Amino acid sequence: MSQTKPTEDPILVVDDLHVAYGRVEAVRGVSFTVAAGSLVTLVGANGAGKSSIINAISGLLKPRSGHITFAGSDITRTPSHRLVGDGLVQVPEGRQILGTLTIEENLQLGGWHVGGASAEALTQTYERFPVLGDRRSLPAGSLSGGEQQMLAIARALVARPKVLLMDEPSMGLAPKVVDEVFRVIEEIRASGTTIVLVEQNARRALRAADHGYVLQTGEVVHSGPARDLLADPKIVEAYLGVDAAR
Ligand code: ATP
Repeated sequence: MSQTKPTEDPILVVDDLHVAYGRVEAVRGVSFTVAAGSLVTLVGANGAGKSSIINAISGLLKPRSGHITFAGSDITRTPSHRLVGDGLVQVPEGRQILGTLTIEENLQLGGWHVGGASAEALTQTYERFPVLGDRRSLPAGSLSGGEQQMLAIARALVARPKVLLMDEPSMGLAPKVVDEVFRVIEEIRASGTTIVLVEQNARRALRAADHGYVLQTGEVVHSGPARDLLADPKIVEAYLGVDAAR
């Protein structure tokens, strides 16, 4: 696999982030950096705070405190539609495909904040995901779960992200389809797009990542090069769960 070498410049910096839902403190002082061109993963059990972090970065949730910097600018309170235009784009948990609209209409929505999906962007998308091209005029709801995940990823790519935030892209998919999703993630990364990947499937995510952060109840409990985390039996046993053997 040919991969673009990450540079040392962080394109994204999360500093002492706190997110709360009323009295529930979901994220408690999380800090991390993402080098341009790298794939960073946040792993941890259900409820560890992963989605809250991603949603705070993408502007869908307002943090209680802390700072988020993207490409050198403070974006802590920037609304999500502006961030999409600047190249920070999220593939949401649960895909959020509009099932009654066609596949092409869903893709066009992906270009909404960047002046529309260009014909070139659509052509490239159909080359990369032929199943979407073949069925572009059909309702998106007619796609399988795995195909809908591909559509969700493709829709985000239409906005030409510099940083792609992915929330649980393998959720609910059969193992073969999960393989396909990870193949696409590695391809996107190899093309130079920076990726922040949130996953419960920790072992798979760490295998694809450069750097990993292990979260537990809203805090980072371990971090380091992904291969070092995978090689540490204590971390594997304590945090990576039963899928660690896969
Ligand atoms: P999951 O894999 O289940 O999405 P996660 O690691 O992404 O887990 P979050 O969804 O960020 O974790 O949730 C972190 C904590 O915040 C949990 O305790 C959760 O119950 C709580 N929480 C999340 N969303 C809300 C909400 N809208 N209202 C109240 N509490 C919430």
